[in-house]
Amino acid sequence: MRLRNVTGSREVIAQSRFVVPEETLKEMPGKWHALFGNEHPIRVEIGMGKGKFLHALAKENPDVNYIGIEKYSTVLLRAVQKMEQEELPNLRFLRMEAEEIAEVFGEGEIDRIYLNFSDPWPKDRHAKRRLPSREFLARYDKILKRDGVIEFKTDNRDLFDFAVEELEPAGWKVQVITYDLHADPVLMEGNVMTEYEEKFSAAGNPICKYVIRR
Ligand code: SAH
Repeated sequence: MRLRNVTGSREVIAQSRFVVPEETLKEMPGKWHALFGNEHPIRVEIGMGKGKFLHALAKENPDVNYIGIEKYSTVLLRAVQKMEQEELPNLRFLRMEAEEIAEVFGEGEIDRIYLNFSDPWPKDRHAKRRLPSREFLARYDKILKRDGVIEFKTDNRDLFDFAVEELEPAGWKVQVITYDLHADPVLMEGNVMTEYEEKFSAAGNPICKYVIRR
């Protein structure tokens, strides 16, 4: 009997039709609608983890295209496996570091950006690595449509306070803000919980959320 090859996550991802090949990403600005074969809006989650949130959204909204960005192939593998079980035409994944996002999408090509439970990078000297930092907001500014929005959810109050302080200097305005999303029936309408959101809200942590625009 021959043992089956245990394929590594990097190889699975490199071969998956749900993952846009890494080596082509820098040629993609301006071509994302063509990739999906329609003109539907494109929404991106940065740091999607296992992809439960995007899979649910993509299933609910067939007229919207979704892209999940994740830097770790071992984590992205879970999202790919979910797609193998239940394939959706309007959801694709990218294995990449979010810092390169403005080189991968063209001007105004994105309709909405989701940041969910982003890594906190608690040390001051790492503030630039936080996904809602002014440095990242400047990158999002390039790729997001003029009337596009960013939605951010986290249970980390320090990170959320930091994110709110970044808005004015970076030229963004709050459209919606709450420090306890799950206690707000209006904002909870249509809320899709992420994996971290389920875990942390079950532990009793309030969830903060903002929606911002320029
Ligand atoms: N959004 C998911 C996962 C949150 S954990 C949820 O809410 O359940 C944060 C995820 O973001 C991790 O999987 C981490 O690997 C990814 N991530 C963090 N910084 C990133 C970056 N700079 N580029 C790409 N992915 C990143």
